[in-house]
Amino acid sequence: MRPFKVIRPTNEKEAMEQVSKGNASYLAAGTDLLNRIKEHVASPDSVVDLKSLPGMNTIEVTDQGIWIGALVRLSAVSSHTDVLSRFPAVCETIIHAATPQIRNMATVGGNLCQKPRCWYLRHEGYSCVKNGGTGCWARDGENEFHGIFDNQICSATQPSNLAPVLVAHEAVIEIASKDGVRELTADQFFIGPSSDPLREVSLEEGEFVRRVMLPESTRAGSWAYEEAREKQSFDWAQASVTLLLDRGGRKGDHRVVLGAVSPAPLRRSDIEKKIDGSDDEIAEASGIAGAGATPLSENGYKIPMLKGLIGKAIRSARSRKEG
Ligand SMILES: Cc1cc2nc3c(=O)[nH]c(=O)nc-3n(C[C@H](O)[C@H](O)[C@H](O)COP(=O)(O)OP(=O)(O)OC[C@H]3O[C@@H](n4cnc5c(N)ncnc54)[C@H](O)[C@@H]3O)c2cc1C
Ligand code: SF4
Repeated sequence: MRPFKVIRPTNEKEAMEQVSKGNASYLAAGTDLLNRIKEHVASPDSVVDLKSLPGMNTIEVTDQGIWIGALVRLSAVSSHTDVLSRFPAVCETIIHAATPQIRNMATVGGNLCQKPRCWYLRHEGYSCVKNGGTGCWARDGENEFHGIFDNQICSATQPSNLAPVLVAHEAVIEIASKDGVRELTADQFFIGPSSDPLREVSLEEGEFVRRVMLPESTRAGSWAYEEAREKQSFDWAQASVTLLLDRGGRKGDHRVVLGAVSPAPLRRSDIEKKIDGSDDEIAEASGIAGAGATPLSENGYKIPMLKGLIGKAIRSARSRKEG
């Protein structure tokens, strides 16, 4: 492992100054970054440890919603009583992520900003459009776990389990920047390769995530999270569906967001419109899962997989609502 310097800033300004000096990265729990350093695909001269900053490790419950600090561990979110009672879909997506040990370490900010799992990107021998080179090895190579939507430039999928549910809840991402604090909705925060193939999130030089807000106005009347993965013990999803019904008590205000099939979480308003319909329309909702997909040589299976997951999610959310 290449040696690097660890910097422990005492305030946000110092953190931003330090990370902007040369070849430096932010560090949270390190479950992603340290692996990439060990695998020689990241080689920072220094890491700026966000854990030394005060105030980013708390969960605050307000009338407007729940603020979750970027340094809060995933397991602390999924076991928090108020998050569980008000935003259960968030907890459900977390308990499907990684292993209990990793969830006890990994932070919310790190989960949102982790790099994609494309095996070419995570191998030191390959250069592609996502790490500053040209072309895409997965396009004509091993692409079984890659995306089926928006995959022309880069087909690596957004790996964060939290990402789709934050988009579904229109979560607010609060960002520390040189000009002060700015906010983006989760939908604006996660970006695809046509915006910038080098980034998956809308953070500018030196910026970091401070906290995330789950708005009370998007609490769901009912919900479901369904995912499929190769290994049941622990694995990244091959495809997932997050479904929220009647958000904020507004009848018909539904969200369907697909995960692990595109570079950023994919909202499907065409499917949302069919959820309140007859059984035939629900069957149609599953049937249109693959609309707009451009599967690669090895990942066409994700279309029938999505169809199954969507049908299952609708049935599950409806029965939760009735029950
Ligand atoms: C075996 C295994 C299985 C996994 N399975 C899943 C899974 O199923 N679903 C899933 O979602 N994840 C999965 N993960 C990934 C895991 O969730 C992430 O590694 C973890 O969430 C990263 O959090 P961290 O605090 O360790 O981040 P770090 O490793 O410290 O940082 C990750 C990246 O984010 C940046 N960063 C960290 N915090 C911030 C911040 N506040 N602002 C800006 N940038 C920041 C860092 O610079 C770095 O580039 C798995 C990981 C492993 C090892
Ligand atoms: S899918 Fe993206 S990250 Fe993977 S090889 Fe292609 S361009 Fe690179």
